[in-house]
Amino acid sequence: MLNDDDLNRYARQVIIPNFDEDGQEKLLKTKCLIVGAGGLGCPVALYSSAAGFGHIEIFDYDIVEKSNLNRQIAHKNKDIGNNKAENLVKECQLINPSISISSKNDIFNETVDISDFDLIFDCSDNPETKYITNFLSHKCKKILISGSAVQMEGQLAIWKSGLSRDYPCYECIFPKTSKKAPITNCRESGIIGPITGLIGSMQVNEAIKEIALNNYQSTAGNLFLYDGLTQNLEKIKLMKNHKCPVCSN
Ligand SMILES: [Zn+2]
Repeated sequence: MLNDDDLNRYARQVIIPNFDEDGQEKLLKTKCLIVGAGGLGCPVALYSSAAGFGHIEIFDYDIVEKSNLNRQIAHKNKDIGNNKAENLVKECQLINPSISISSKNDIFNETVDISDFDLIFDCSDNPETKYITNFLSHKCKKILISGSAVQMEGQLAIWKSGLSRDYPCYECIFPKTSKKAPITNCRESGIIGPITGLIGSMQVNEAIKEIALNNYQSTAGNLFLYDGLTQNLEKIKLMKNHKCPVCSN
């Protein structure tokens, strides 16, 4: 049962058909891990907190730099030099003090234990971390919602290979042997702030649907490509690689 404060705070979403108080209770019980507190991690953490995901942990060892501020919207000029994960947690607590939220000022690698979480947001900006979040999410049977953005383009996908053998994983589609890296670094290629804002918002939208909505048809197994120049959103059905080193066994 939601208390009066929760009913008031989440009033505009619990009235949505198929969401209801039951959906809000599911969100409040959900444990989310957010990998990266930058351009994607900021909107993901802010909207997840505001929506009432009850338990959130944010992972990032990086510090806020001035060149981050065109897109990493939770970090302010006064925060330059602070750890991104710790700073983002403070901003989220200002929005919603009734959830449990914590930071990890550390490098995300294969040794991180993600078994306690229900849902992983990949908000990293490098292929190495994306392979690690994919490997761990598959192994621990978690929902992985990954985003990426560069220049005026963004990508979004929901990966559930650990939950059903029919679904592909990230490495099925972006094998490590691929000559063309799936993600290009913002530092080298540039990025427009609203693109990360949009993709991060879409990541949380998918998470809310996965966790809270009744009778919901998952979009897992598709890759969404957004072009901010033409306003085109392409939905591509993905095929599992039956020789994938991560998910084929
Ligand atoms: Zn795979």
